[in-house]
Amino acid sequence: MINVFCIGEILIDFVAEKQGNDLSKADNFIKKAGGAPANVAAAISKLKGKSYFVGAVGKDPFGLFLKNTLKNLNVLTTHLQEKEIFTTLAFVSIAENGERDFVFSRGADAFLDYDPNFKTKLKESLVHFGSATAFLEGNLESTYSLYLNEAVTNDCFISFDPNFRTDLWKNNEQDFIKKSIAFIEKADFSKFSIEEAQLISGETDIEKACDKLHKYGTKIIAVTLGSEGTYLSTLSHKEIIKSIKVNPIDTTGAGDAFVGCFLKLVADLKNPKVDLEDFILLKKMIKTANVAGALTTTNYGAIASLPTMETIKRYE
Ligand code: ATP
Repeated sequence: MINVFCIGEILIDFVAEKQGNDLSKADNFIKKAGGAPANVAAAISKLKGKSYFVGAVGKDPFGLFLKNTLKNLNVLTTHLQEKEIFTTLAFVSIAENGERDFVFSRGADAFLDYDPNFKTKLKESLVHFGSATAFLEGNLESTYSLYLNEAVTNDCFISFDPNFRTDLWKNNEQDFIKKSIAFIEKADFSKFSIEEAQLISGETDIEKACDKLHKYGTKIIAVTLGSEGTYLSTLSHKEIIKSIKVNPIDTTGAGDAFVGCFLKLVADLKNPKVDLEDFILLKKMIKTANVAGALTTTNYGAIASLPTMETIKRYE
């Protein structure tokens, strides 16, 4: 099995206990570990894969909480940097009109430094880049670019999830698209929501959107469709891979569980880039990843609800 390095965002989500109020009225908040690539690392580890989280937290109680959360999940924290900058915090509530009310205090994770010792570890590894915040202010974007180059040089299997969030990229979408394309060009696997696929490709039709995204360079595309499953696209095949039926109660982190499960299965392959040319095998892996995503929706929280491989196998 090869190592999986998940790079980028890590933060505390303070989620309003009582939903239906905007943040000005919300008074109790529940502290949760968050950040898409950290969730992916947690999912891989829960499935008994070897995952490293590469990111930055503050030298403060919230940073310690995040570090301990990763450690308790057996995510390797050798490349977690601890900064003299406060840990990134987000406060979230769902207002009465159903809209997300969201305040974001960007801190340590924006300042991940490039570590030249890290590149020696990249041989025969899988590297996952994901985060809407990587391209915001701070030096995470330049660190990301350097690691992307290292990953390409070392012929790593590269995975990318743009994690677009409207609240963070209002009026600046073109910049987000341009920056995402630099990763899509190099990614062996890219995961999009349908909105992200449409936004980045500029095409509304899913087939055309995937064709355009393939033209940028990415080889395998998974467009996640919630309860409908996943639209899987390669240069030669396109197919919707159905999910299982569940009663969802919290969809947070379903996409990260899906990506984590898929990457764990990729890491188990002998020669991922060659093996994944087999569309039957690829379909089977996406089907398993769909189950991971589906089961994550049946409980609260992105990390607490992650299933084990034994549970996933029971539903396949
Ligand atoms: P996130 O909000 O974490 O970014 P996402 O929108 O990227 O998630 P989803 O489409 O919600 O991802 O979920 C990922 C995968 O999980 C889907 O492709 C699907 O296979 C499975 N899944 C999610 N929700 C359901 C559901 N209600 N029923 C069945 N399967 C589901």
